[in-house]
Amino acid sequence: MNFDQARREMVSRQIAARGVRDQRVLAALEQVPRHLFLSEIQQAAAYGDHPLPIGEGQTISQPFMVASMTEALGLTGSEKILEIGTGSGYQAAVLAVLARQVVSIERILSLAEKARARLKSLPADNVVVHVGDGTLGWPDSGPYQGIMVTAGAPATPKPLLAQLDIGGRLVIPVGSRSSQVIEIHTKTGIDSYSIRKDTACRFVDLIGRHGWEC
Ligand code: SAH
Repeated sequence: MNFDQARREMVSRQIAARGVRDQRVLAALEQVPRHLFLSEIQQAAAYGDHPLPIGEGQTISQPFMVASMTEALGLTGSEKILEIGTGSGYQAAVLAVLARQVVSIERILSLAEKARARLKSLPADNVVVHVGDGTLGWPDSGPYQGIMVTAGAPATPKPLLAQLDIGGRLVIPVGSRSSQVIEIHTKTGIDSYSIRKDTACRFVDLIGRHGWEC
């Protein structure tokens, strides 16, 4: 299997063809070896147009969803980003190419440990993975110029809005347990936000104090 070619085709057919325009995002998706974030039996399917299982009942998001949520953050390279839901570590690796620093939180220890090991083997030394309830954010490293939640929430957790820098964006799937819509919140002042709603999607549950119950 030629993974490099599969990745180039993924970017042109699934991502650029569907309207993702940010050249830095397209280049990052072309660069990060998505197959290395999956178990060996899943690797042949790594560049397909779908999410895939990563163990513990969780999934790595569809490539287009990764690209479009990343584009929505509008990154220039100087940002400190908070990600909730490390999962495989793939989205964190993409953010690490595009931002200055990435703080990622995962509630399941075994997934966090695997993601840390994978990220270590890449040139991604600007990512730190913490284990905990990401609905509380990670205030010690804030404020963040961008926050991405990669699990579906019943509502936007207030602590995340509080830890967002003015001018920063929070990208989060919000809705029921079976379907959500991507919301992009831009912090316009200390306690003011604008909201834009984007695509419909289906993510695994965000579980925690400001998410769904276990
Ligand atoms: N971004 C991941 C995909 C995430 S799947 C990737 O690139 O592979 C969603 C992840 O969110 C799961 O691993 C799940 O365990 C985690 N999660 C759910 N609720 C959470 C919470 N409150 N805090 C941190 N992680 C959470």
